[in-house]
Amino acid sequence: MLPFILNTFTRTNLRAAVLLPSVLCLLFAVTVDSQTPTPTPPGPTHADILRGEYGKYRANNDLLAYDLTIKVDPSRNYITGTNSIQFKMLSDDTRIQLDLYDNLYIDHITMAKRELKYERDSGAVFVDFPTTLQKGQTYTIAFEYHGTPKTIGRFGGFTFGKDPKGRPWVFTACEGLGASLWWPNKDQWKDEVNEMWMHVIIPNGLTDVSNGRFLKKRDLGDGFTQWDYHINYPINNYDVSLNIGNYEHWSDKLDDLTLDFYALPEDLEKAKAQFIQAKGMLKAYQFIFGEYPFKKDGYKLIQVPYSGMEHQSAVTYGNRFANGYLERDWTGVGISTRFDFIIIHESGHEWFGNAVTAADVSDMWIHEGWTTYLECLYVEYRWAHDDYLKYTNALKKKVQNRTPIITHRGTNTEPPQDMYFKGALFLHTLRSVIDDDRKFYALIRDLFQKFKYQTIMTEDIVAFFNDRTGMDLTPVFDQYLRHAAIPVLELKFTTGMVAYRWKADEPAFSMPIKVGAKDNWRIIKPTTEWQTMQTPLTKDTFDVATDLYYVDIAKL
Ligand SMILES: [Zn+2]
Repeated sequence: MLPFILNTFTRTNLRAAVLLPSVLCLLFAVTVDSQTPTPTPPGPTHADILRGEYGKYRANNDLLAYDLTIKVDPSRNYITGTNSIQFKMLSDDTRIQLDLYDNLYIDHITMAKRELKYERDSGAVFVDFPTTLQKGQTYTIAFEYHGTPKTIGRFGGFTFGKDPKGRPWVFTACEGLGASLWWPNKDQWKDEVNEMWMHVIIPNGLTDVSNGRFLKKRDLGDGFTQWDYHINYPINNYDVSLNIGNYEHWSDKLDDLTLDFYALPEDLEKAKAQFIQAKGMLKAYQFIFGEYPFKKDGYKLIQVPYSGMEHQSAVTYGNRFANGYLERDWTGVGISTRFDFIIIHESGHEWFGNAVTAADVSDMWIHEGWTTYLECLYVEYRWAHDDYLKYTNALKKKVQNRTPIITHRGTNTEPPQDMYFKGALFLHTLRSVIDDDRKFYALIRDLFQKFKYQTIMTEDIVAFFNDRTGMDLTPVFDQYLRHAAIPVLELKFTTGMVAYRWKADEPAFSMPIKVGAKDNWRIIKPTTEWQTMQTPLTKDTFDVATDLYYVDIAKL
């Protein structure tokens, strides 16, 4: 997914944006003085817990495969479908939890053609079995449903749209909203199927582009054609997608990886020119992290009317066939305009987000922080280390530091925007802490290789870095990810001497940092206790390598 972008970016608006926080602070002070209680943010609702928690009736089974057949009728804004869900029981039980938005109708849920009872509770569907399902056994149920899915959210949810020429353009983009917006599944992040089939039935003459390897299409003789895809890898639910339109298709190859591109006929030439960037992107990320993780499925890039989404092996694109992000210099330092932000960012998610997936929305920085950092690495690979530094440091002005970027687990609570920029700046800082680029690049490559096709939590990443570096980086991870504030290096100067310590929320926070003079950095290892060192530099001349770390400096 992408960060928000300001719609208007004029000088006046920028000034307003700068002025606004101080006005807000003032208002807040007045409010406190008059003793009006500060409203507490609402806690998670019952529905949020049902969606977010890896509850008993989710944890008792392990998904193996989905086989989704869906008929999409744009003339009636209507879908009809069946998802065959194969799972293995991990404990004996008579009930499992699935999910489907409550505006969609359930026709039948059956096992071996035998009707099953179920209970709906907001978006959850609890399916009951007449006899106990046995631990270790595999079962398949068929979940039939129909209705008109909702068109909501930043990217449209499920949209029955039209292209500029008035032809049907139907697409899905449901990260955050959940895939149960349009098809029944176990709608959480921890458990993924090992593989999936999709059979998408659409009016003749249109093309459906979905995830995975295209198998075949078949005219059903009733004005509709069925398009079959097979996804050969684990896939998170929100990545599963339909893109139905009057697409032109062209193909290419990068070594033995198939590349397939789709655009509207009137945009074909612009798309062909812009989509060439996909090859350079793939080369860069393959060089850094290893082979494209969904090779059996191939890589696809598909034009859509919204800005873009990382749909696995079927990345969607709506960046106006121009460099930057919606034709803007996204980081404002003249580097974003050298490449197409959507191709580089959304495709980066194939490595982090799709192959390596967070097991809970709370830890979504594993998707967005890492992928934002992949943009920085792309800049370094394509251009130069100085450009990497410029691009990465330009992210600092986008960070707010208001709330931690890891949210409360099990509540389906999406982290704040800081997960993008602060997440990337934290990884940049971690690289400087390791202070050996060869070692750092080897570490992130090994981390990707170790965790690809898995769902993991931040703790897994921390344990990996601690194990491989022999350092205790836990307080560093915790300070950046589990607190709102960044560490402050406090410096006190006396003649010929500087005292230094970290001011941080984590009592055991300890992080080396380069200080002194720019061409002759000296590494100190401050903790939260005062230490001193001799220096000929003064308060005015003593410098800190703030372009290598995301920290604040306080010269006391
Ligand atoms: Zn993203």
